[in-house]
Amino acid sequence: MSAMSASTCAISSLPYELLVAVAVASQEDCVVDSNWETESTTFKAEWTLSHVSRRFRDVVVGAPALWTLIEMDFTGEGSVEILNLYLERSRTSKISLILREPESCMTVDGLLRERVTEIIVPQVNRIQRLKIVLRAKDWDLDQEMLGPFRDVAAPHLEHLEIVYRGGEFAVGVPVAMFWSGAPRLTFLKIDRSTLQLPPQPLWMASITHLELLGGYDPDIYPAAVTAQCPSLTHLHLDVTYVPTDANRFHIPTLKFLYISIQDNERADYVSYIVALFDVPALAELILNGSHGDQVAFLLCLKSLPQSSFPVLTSISFICRGSCLCETQPVLPYHPLSSPPVLFPALSHLILINQCHAYALIKDILGPVSHPWPLLKTITLGAVDDSFEEVGAAVEDAVDSKCQHGEPVPEVRLFRVLSSLEDWDENSPVDVERSW
Ligand SMILES: [Zn+2]
Repeated sequence: MSAMSASTCAISSLPYELLVAVAVASQEDCVVDSNWETESTTFKAEWTLSHVSRRFRDVVVGAPALWTLIEMDFTGEGSVEILNLYLERSRTSKISLILREPESCMTVDGLLRERVTEIIVPQVNRIQRLKIVLRAKDWDLDQEMLGPFRDVAAPHLEHLEIVYRGGEFAVGVPVAMFWSGAPRLTFLKIDRSTLQLPPQPLWMASITHLELLGGYDPDIYPAAVTAQCPSLTHLHLDVTYVPTDANRFHIPTLKFLYISIQDNERADYVSYIVALFDVPALAELILNGSHGDQVAFLLCLKSLPQSSFPVLTSISFICRGSCLCETQPVLPYHPLSSPPVLFPALSHLILINQCHAYALIKDILGPVSHPWPLLKTITLGAVDDSFEEVGAAVEDAVDSKCQHGEPVPEVRLFRVLSSLEDWDENSPVDVERSW
């Protein structure tokens, strides 16, 4: 008996529930691995599995749960046929939809709007997750794609993601969707487009995780997030130019904050941005785009008039590229001499590709500084050029601490690439040295 027919034989003796469970599990692997923004993952487990045996085919086709992840590229009739097949086989189950806008205008003007209106919008009552990739360099086509969703309600929608991949510097059309209500929406991510809110308040009341990337609007975002997101715990924000400090964020529930800022030569710029947030429950802060002198300035502050961080335990500072701060400083670097008063609970400090890392390490660990009583770990990411120097700074500081019999936090050093556009807390860390 061949291996194939042996496995087919084994499959035919499995109970129905187990077959479905196997199929669902292999489908989940596929979903996690796929890059939904660019690739079609249409040929997924449900197709492969339906060819294993006649019985398996019947099981797979008859299991609505296996047809609930649906993708649509809007190119060609085949795409529409496959979509309809999924909609039929998923029956009344909740569905996850990935919609990719065509890169250029379709053959007939308005065809995209027509397809979205006639095929997708009627399913809105059972959409649980919706991801849309805008790919055209054309706001009219973006409007055709998103417009039909504006005034409808999405009663079961939990996860909404809109990303724009049309051009390197351009921004997609403002996102205005589900203005009649999305009462279960907990996750909203808008990447390189702006959010346009409906006239009625509390449209975002159920959102706990919000990402507004690449289209910061200083007049709208702080007020909207403050007033409309009473349950927010996670916020990712791209602050694309110097915002005014008249509009601040007040979010008493916020636990996690990721801010990406533009390059700015002011030594107090990072402090200025941090001062825009009144987030007393914050536990973790990631700041992408900082420079070492700005980090030192922030850590030296004794207080901020309207912001305090009593329970903040982890801060990451990330410098995205290379800079001239160390060789051609615009402003002098001010050394740290005491633990950061503004962050009394700080126990994990992460410095990724940060300029002045050598000085920061000496100031934090070195013999002249006062000990930081709660500091448990320091994680350092350095590019090849500064890896040895940073390692030597840690070595010296740790030696000196040990000689004086003082406690030393755990220090870990790893190598990073010089461009850190998208570094976040989930990025892989391969520690090369530790103390
Ligand atoms: Zn720098």
